[in-house]
Amino acid sequence: MLNEQELKRRDKVLMSMMQIYCRAHHDTRGQLCSSCARLREYAGQKMASCTLLENSSFCSSCMVHCYAPHEREQIWTVMRFSGKWMLLYHPLMAVSHLAHSMRRRKHS
Ligand SMILES: [Zn+2]
Repeated sequence: MLNEQELKRRDKVLMSMMQIYCRAHHDTRGQLCSSCARLREYAGQKMASCTLLENSSFCSSCMVHCYAPHEREQIWTVMRFSGKWMLLYHPLMAVSHLAHSMRRRKHS
């Protein structure tokens, strides 16, 4: 299991990405619409309970194992969209996220 500090950090990244996506697609400001809030809750639960996460970032292969197909598709859509914006809004968060995604892409 992840320690609490790391879990909070990842939850913050997740929330930021969801906000960027929701704001652009559902015209919300600073908070999530009900469907995005539900997705965030789902992702948060997976994040908290997944043992694979200890060695990887929350956007990694763990999703493939833990997420239901529908939710996985939704979260990927959010991340594909928000990934590039993260560089603008949250450069520090984005660096580790992108570094991980790139490694992942090379393998697949
Ligand atoms: Zn939304």
